[in-house]
Amino acid sequence: MPVLRRGDAVNGRGDTRTPTDRERAEWFDPDGRTGDRGLRFSCTMCGNCCSGPEGFVLVSDEEARALATRLGLPLAEFRERYTRIVPQGVSLTEVLSEVGNDCVFLDRRSVPGKALCGVYEDRPAQCRTWPFWPSVVRDRASWERHKRVCPGMDTGTLVPVDRVRILRDSFRI
Ligand code: SF4
Ligand code: SF4
Repeated sequence: MPVLRRGDAVNGRGDTRTPTDRERAEWFDPDGRTGDRGLRFSCTMCGNCCSGPEGFVLVSDEEARALATRLGLPLAEFRERYTRIVPQGVSLTEVLSEVGNDCVFLDRRSVPGKALCGVYEDRPAQCRTWPFWPSVVRDRASWERHKRVCPGMDTGTLVPVDRVRILRDSFRI
């Protein structure tokens, strides 16, 4: 997820409010603009968040093991072929496409006009939690800004407040 995949402002680490205060302050419960208790999101498989300028997709040891198993590779070979070290940690590699720096697992061929995750069931937490990252859901203005890149935001399925909270709090970026 290039532009989006890339590290954005880290949010929340210094937040000393109690959970109750935080929950009360959440702008998406309910969203003042839509009235929804939660946020709508349905991926259109445009691939925007998996490509673009150079960025990173962090992969933990556990995630790397799962991906290596999926691909039938020894872990060391998986790391050698598909990961690289970045300032933020260990990232999946990228390949250049006509669009930009694609995640190495972005599949633009299987479905014409769509860009799919080639390792969807084993995609890293950074991908699983998009677009509910702390840096994205911190306020409506940030959500709106990221919508310019992700057409799935504010459309389709209503993700309830509690689920948004779980996703937001499970990956810091
Ligand atoms: S692992 Fe899948 S979802 Fe994550 S950036 Fe790569 S292609 Fe996109
Ligand atoms: S709709 Fe959003 S989440 Fe889905 S591929 Fe496009 S940018 Fe990524």
